[in-house]
Parts: sequence; C-alpha cells; structure tokens
Amino acid sequence: MNDLSFLKPTSRQIDFDHFDNRLLLYVLQYEPSFLTCVSCGGCTATCSAGNLTNFNVRKIGLSLRRGEIDILAEEIQKCMFCGKCTLVCPRDINIRNVVLLIKKRIVILKKQ
Ligand code: SF4
Ligand code: SF4
Repeated sequence: MNDLSFLKPTSRQIDFDHFDNRLLLYVLQYEPSFLTCVSCGGCTATCSAGNLTNFNVRKIGLSLRRGEIDILAEEIQKCMFCGKCTLVCPRDINIRNVVLLIKKRIVILKKQ
C-alpha cells in the first residue's frame, strides 16, 4: 500500500453557478456592521460553543460570504447565544446578532 502521509487539499473555489447570496443580503440589511469584519478570529477564540464543540464562528462568517447555506444550517445550531463574541470584536460587530439572523432566516430559505 502506498502511504503518501499527506492529504490532498480539496478545492475551496466558489462555484458561482450555485452561489446563493440571499442569506448574506438579509443579514447585511439588519446588521450592516458585518461588512467590516476582517476575519481576525477574535470571536472564535472566546466562543463558548467553540470551547465545547468544533463550532467556529469565524467560519460562519466565511460561509455566509460564500453562500454556503447547507453548511450554515447545520453549524448554526451549535451557538449558545452567550454574546461573548460580540464583547471582544475589535470592529464592534454584533456577531451574536449575525448568528441569530442566520438562524431565523435559514429556516425559511431551506423551505424555498
Ligand atoms: S472578532 Fe469581529 S472582526 Fe474578528 S472575525 Fe469575529 S466578527 Fe470578524
Ligand atoms: S453567542 Fe454563539 S458564537 Fe458568540 S460566543 Fe456565544 S456561543 Fe459563540
């Protein structure tokens, strides 16, 4: 057996034929501060859910920008809405509200 001892990286190229920005536009309508997110990861470092599970709130922001509705629908359930992420954000983004908006809207989008 040939053990190459490394994993071939999977492509993260955005497929614009299936890109879905409906959720991103909804979030920006009610929480425009998200536009200033620099993906620093400060929110992830303090996240309560991230300490207990593999939840990564910074990746939630990235998936939101990439229109990855299916990934978000599963991951968003892990948030405990403690609000610590919002307290530490250097850009004063209410990231807890971003997560809440995603959770509320995704139920409707998944039915459409
Ligand atoms: S701490 Fe704020 S700026 Fe940094 S990744 Fe989180 S939401 Fe974005
Ligand atoms: S509100 Fe959710 S995303 Fe923010 S720190 Fe708490 S568990 Fe993490």
